[in-house]
Amino acid sequence: MAAPEELTPASDFIRDQVRADLAAGTFGGRVQTRFPPEPNGYLHIGHAKAICVDFGIAADFGGICQLRLDDTNPDTEEHEYVESIVDDVRWLGFDPPMPILHASDYFEQLYAWAEHLIEAGLAYVDDQDTETISAQRGGYGKPGIESPHRNRSIAENLALFRGMRAGEFADGTKVLRAKIDMQHENMQLRDPIMYRIRRGHHYRTGDAWCIYPTYDWAHGQSDAIEGVTHSLCTLEFDSHRPLYDWYLAQLPLPREAPRQTEFARLELTHTVTSKRRLKQLVDEGIVAGWDDPRMPTLRGLRRRGYPAAAIRDFCTYIGLTRTNSRHSIELLESFVRRELNRTAPRRMAVLRPLRLTLTNWPTDDAGNPVVEWVEVVNNPEDPDAGSRRVPFTGDLVIETEDFALDPPPKFFRLSPGREVRLRGAYFVTCTEAITDAQGQVVEVRATYDPATRGGNAPDGRKVKSTMHWVSVPHAVPGVVALYDRLFSAQAPGERTGDVMDDLSPQSRELLTGALLEPAVADTPPGAVLQFERLGYFAHDTQTAMLFHRTVGLKDEWAAIQRRGGA
Ligand code: ATP
Ligand code: MG
Repeated sequence: MAAPEELTPASDFIRDQVRADLAAGTFGGRVQTRFPPEPNGYLHIGHAKAICVDFGIAADFGGICQLRLDDTNPDTEEHEYVESIVDDVRWLGFDPPMPILHASDYFEQLYAWAEHLIEAGLAYVDDQDTETISAQRGGYGKPGIESPHRNRSIAENLALFRGMRAGEFADGTKVLRAKIDMQHENMQLRDPIMYRIRRGHHYRTGDAWCIYPTYDWAHGQSDAIEGVTHSLCTLEFDSHRPLYDWYLAQLPLPREAPRQTEFARLELTHTVTSKRRLKQLVDEGIVAGWDDPRMPTLRGLRRRGYPAAAIRDFCTYIGLTRTNSRHSIELLESFVRRELNRTAPRRMAVLRPLRLTLTNWPTDDAGNPVVEWVEVVNNPEDPDAGSRRVPFTGDLVIETEDFALDPPPKFFRLSPGREVRLRGAYFVTCTEAITDAQGQVVEVRATYDPATRGGNAPDGRKVKSTMHWVSVPHAVPGVVALYDRLFSAQAPGERTGDVMDDLSPQSRELLTGALLEPAVADTPPGAVLQFERLGYFAHDTQTAMLFHRTVGLKDEWAAIQRRGGA
């Protein structure tokens, strides 16, 4: 079984919960979600799942989903990433309301709320360094140690916190902590850090601030400021939920507090979905950039030719669970193939050309070889795609691997004495193979049967193979990039702890001598074609006649399922 033809409408534990909230009138009947990336890298396939969940659920229930940049770290965030994030979300097929939102717009409100916690005796300034604080936090069954500064007066805490904001203290010399419970069974509630001193230039707020909120202090409060109802995130935040709720419970909110619900991260075999790792691949020059077609970034997948619809369908199909698991990349590819099978025009391309000369091909009255235009359908799956005329001559190329001087058993393609069909054209019979001094076949000679025009013999005789071809005088030269898995291991890093140990030694092969049928020259940048018998290929957006193999034609997912695998 390949990717299913029909997708059932999504239903899952989060949608069930939203439905129940609506029925009970929780949140005043509103549904509002957000997709909150940190602009410290490009979005990847894992984010695609979160985007489909956040925007998809809002859409299903007539709610809204905002795109909010969770930009609270001055060290790693950049404008470049912001633009790509907006662009990628749109490309995936979602339309974030404009203007997009920024957690950094809430710095003033977050600061005011922090003072509110201090005034309520629920936050204090700690002068210890973060290593000490972290060591004092303890662990499961290991008691926490209270900071010597924990019981400072409210007035002293306020003065110190204001001093922190005013830049009176050096980076890292003080933090603001929530005063919760140093013996709490959940480590997140053992007086978590709310603010750090950090003189970094923030890409939006510049040098206005030298204290920055932590993720936990910023996130739920940003949700509340915006009026988010359902704050959906990945499972690693599960243990943070009590803290999320605790902060909101202390604040004078104008309406019902948002509720956090977690779902499983998307992981795929043979790749990584950590921005840090992906950045490392780029920085170390292992790939050519964030949009390298081997990257699981949305940029990379898009350049590789993955249709956005295939990614959305894949995300719908895998659904929402609360158990982390790694999905087979072959399943995603199966959705890509299913979509491209419907939409990609068929063309002929010879990646590793071998000359095929038809010795009985006619010449015209002037002695020039005849050019015949044969009609070939553009997409057998889509009658509306029509057909095109492809020039055929006696001077052709075929795929090198489609010829065998000494054919092994079950090799039905061209070999001496063998007759095959050239797609849409004629039957040809190999009469001779020309070899060079090393015994390499450099040219194949054949005769064609004029009675088989269109690819069928009037006497009903059959051939076992239909091959693609390109007429040499009409051929357009091209470059084709073939890709292998970026990581050879299914679960990169599992063996040694370092994903880099599992990099494929060679994940890209560049074929510079491809010959393409002339219609390929009309392919718009970014469009995907099926090169017959070879796979789907995306026309590069920058370089004309450079093609990236999106996926091959064989459904490896079906094979995995037959073997009873994942
Ligand atoms: P990093 O890779 O640096 O840890 P991140 O993956 O958490 O960062 P964010 O920009 O913080 O990246 O993520 C934005 C949103 O996307 C969050 O809600 C997060 O839960 C979700 N998300 C991130 N990675 C995945 C994933 N692999 N599967 C599903 N959702 C994800
Ligand atoms: Mg994150």
